[in-house]
Amino acid sequence: MSQYWSPAVRDLTPYIPGEQPRERVIKLNTNENPYPPAPGVSQALAQYPTDHLRLYPDPTSLALRETLASRYGVSVAETFVGNGSDEVLAFAFQAFFCQGAPLDVPSITYSFYPVYANLYGVELRKHPLNAQWEVDMDALASAGERSGVIFANPNAPTGHAHPLEAIEALLQKVTDRVVLVDEAYVDFGADSAVSMISRYPNLLVTGTFSKSRSLAGLRLGYAIGSSELIEGLQRVKDSFNSYPVDSLASLVGIEALKDTEHFDACRNNVIATRERTRQRLERLGFEVLPSKANFLFAQHPHHEGAQLFAGLRERGILVRHFNTEALNNFLRITIGTDDEMDSFIEAMETLCA
Ligand code: PMP
Repeated sequence: MSQYWSPAVRDLTPYIPGEQPRERVIKLNTNENPYPPAPGVSQALAQYPTDHLRLYPDPTSLALRETLASRYGVSVAETFVGNGSDEVLAFAFQAFFCQGAPLDVPSITYSFYPVYANLYGVELRKHPLNAQWEVDMDALASAGERSGVIFANPNAPTGHAHPLEAIEALLQKVTDRVVLVDEAYVDFGADSAVSMISRYPNLLVTGTFSKSRSLAGLRLGYAIGSSELIEGLQRVKDSFNSYPVDSLASLVGIEALKDTEHFDACRNNVIATRERTRQRLERLGFEVLPSKANFLFAQHPHHEGAQLFAGLRERGILVRHFNTEALNNFLRITIGTDDEMDSFIEAMETLCA
């Protein structure tokens, strides 16, 4: 606490990201991709004329947005890019949810939403998950005044994904406020709601290059939605930072989007490894929630989450443990390479013996 801090800063509860250790560990704690980005990324960086760094980047990120638009079959005016999807989410909170009414959100979801809500003074109306640890879509759409609805599909940290019909049913009920679907993990087996943006002008879909495109270190995220929603985001962006996406990030993002073959190969590998890991954990007695993401959420009936977390850590394996009452017994395990998951399962065999 400092005398120099404003009251608002004193009251913040910042998001705590997973560790980025300096020593070599098997890192299964922040849902990064174990495979390298598309080969075209290295080439583009190697050939980049360094002299261009003298110049500011294009404030509208047009070239990147054109590639994004053609990749998703939408118009450029329906795309927005930012410095990681966290930033895009922050802009969305400011643009749409600061309306003096509660924002409907699942009680267990991405833990940055409450942080932004606190930062921007948005009240959250939290809806418990159902008995299968799934987002309760009916509850999210329940009647009442609201500033909007936000949820992740697949959800984090559970990994469950709803089919598009369930999202469409919600969109048919919530028509007057923005429904934000955070698709950070969609490429690992879920269906994207982008296909519905032309029919629902209040639907905003966000995504990231951090997971399925192996670019967490670059900081690039996007939103796709009707041009009026995108304009709302642009108004916030242009009141905060004209250039959230730098020249190198744009270039690299374009290369990553162009290489569909590499993209498909990596995500299919992750999906196959996820399913193998799920079976192996189940054989060890774990309850593993069905996942359409690049992580598994699992708990053991006889071993506490905190103890398993500590045991793995001692063996140089980092996973994520959430110290909250509801999630205390679970571990969130990012899917790494097959070799990394072999080491992880071997460690689990010892710890659960
Ligand atoms: N949404 C969800 C559900 C996430 O788990 C994450 C990653 N922590 C993000 C958004 C943000 O991703 P990034 O800022 O790296 O694009």
